[in-house]
Amino acid sequence: MNVLVLNCGSSSLKFQLVDSTTETRLARGVVERIGGQALCTYEPRHAPARKHAEPVRDHAGAVERVMRWLVGDGDGTGEGTGVLGSAGEVQAVGHRVVHGGESFRTHARIDAGVIRQIEDCMDLAPLHNPANLSGIRAARALLGEGVPMVAVFDTAFHSTMPETSYLYALPYQLYRRHRIRRYGFHGTSHAYLVQRFAELAGKPREGVDVITLHLGNGCSACAVRQGRSVATSMGFTPLEGLVMGTRCGDLDPSLVEHVALKEGMSLREMDTLLNKQSGLFGVSGLTSDMRELLDEEREHGDRRATLAIDLFVRRVKHYVGAYLAELDGAEALVFSGGIGENSPEVRRRVCDRLGWLGIELDPERNAALAPGTEGEVGVDGARVRIVVIPTDEERMIARETAAVLAGDRARG
Ligand code: ADP
Repeated sequence: MNVLVLNCGSSSLKFQLVDSTTETRLARGVVERIGGQALCTYEPRHAPARKHAEPVRDHAGAVERVMRWLVGDGDGTGEGTGVLGSAGEVQAVGHRVVHGGESFRTHARIDAGVIRQIEDCMDLAPLHNPANLSGIRAARALLGEGVPMVAVFDTAFHSTMPETSYLYALPYQLYRRHRIRRYGFHGTSHAYLVQRFAELAGKPREGVDVITLHLGNGCSACAVRQGRSVATSMGFTPLEGLVMGTRCGDLDPSLVEHVALKEGMSLREMDTLLNKQSGLFGVSGLTSDMRELLDEEREHGDRRATLAIDLFVRRVKHYVGAYLAELDGAEALVFSGGIGENSPEVRRRVCDRLGWLGIELDPERNAALAPGTEGEVGVDGARVRIVVIPTDEERMIARETAAVLAGDRARG
C-alpha cells in the first residue's frame, strides 16, 4: 500500500511516500518556510534530489505542491517526475501528530470525532497540534474522503507509563482538573527502536528490556520494560529531560520567576529562552549543532564548546543510571538520532566509566561503525549490549498507518 507520510511543523512540511508492504521509500522531500517564498526539496527514489523556491501560502499549498511532484506535474521547471505514475495512487495518509493527550493511547483512523479530540489537545501543544491539524485538513481537501488517513501520535508509545512515572509531585487536583502530567514525546522513534532491536535480537517485542536514547536536535531517553515505555525524559512538553540543541532540559522551576525578574522578561520570553536559546546553543554561545561543537573543540580547544558537550553527556549518563535502576538492569543501551547514530565521540563519552554497570564500549567497533548504520559497539559478553540503530520515524508511521487500517478492516 502506498502511504503518504506527512509531518507538518509550524512553517514546514516533511513528507515521504512509502510502500508499506515492502517498506520501500518511493520519494521524500520537504517544503520549508511556508507562508512566503518556500524552499522546496524533492527526492524521488531513482533520481537526484532537486531544490527550488516558489511561493507557498499555507499548509494546503504545501500538500498541493507535494502531490504535484508525486503525480508528475514537475516542479515548475517543466520536468515531470511522477513517482505515482508507475507506483499507483496514494492509498492512505499517515499524519504525525505531536500530542494525543490522554485521549489517544493508540494511533487512530481520522474521522470528525478524532479531529475534535485532537483539537481538544490543542492547548497541550499550542505550537505543534495546530500545524498537524492544518496538514490533516489540507490532505483531506485535496485527496477526498476516499483516501483513509491515520493520526500517529508522538505521545502514544508512552501511554503505558505507570502513574508513578507520569505524575509530577504537584497537588493532585492539577492532574484531575488540567491533565498536568508527563506525556513524553518521540514515541514513534522509541517504538521503532524497540521493534528493530527485538528483530535484531531475534525475540518478540514483549521480551525486550532496553534503554533507548534518541539524541538529535531534540533529545529523549526511554526506559522500556517488556517492550513498553515505563519512563521517559520528556514531560508535559518536550522541554524536560536531556540537554538538547536549544532546550535546557531539567531545571529548577524557581528559576523561571527569578530570571524573569532579573532580566525583565515576560513569561513568553522566558519560554523562548528555555526552548530556543538554551541547551548546547545557550551554554556554548556558538551553535546548537553537536557536530560543529565537536569540531570547535577539536580544532580550537574552545572551552565553552567542551562545557556544552560535557553538560549534554553528563545529563545522558544521569538518565542511563536512573533507568537502569528503574528497570532493574537492561539488556541493551540503544543509541539513535543524528548525534547517537553519527558521533562515536559522544557515544564514547556517555559510556565512559560505566563499566561497573555492565556498560562497556569497544573502542575499535565504536570508531569503525559507519555513520548512520546499524551495529553493535559494545564488547562481547558485557552485561548490557550497546547498539546503534538509525531511527526511521517515517517508516514507522507508514507501518502504524497500515496496521491501524488493517485492524479496522478486520473489525469490519
Ligand atoms: P532532528 O532532531 O531535527 O531530526 P537529527 O536527528 O538530524 O535532528 O540530529 C541533529 C543533530 O545531530 C545535530 O546536533 C547534528 O550536529 C548532529 N550530528 C549529525 N551528524 C553528526 C556527526 N557526524 N557527529 C556529531 N553530531 C552529528
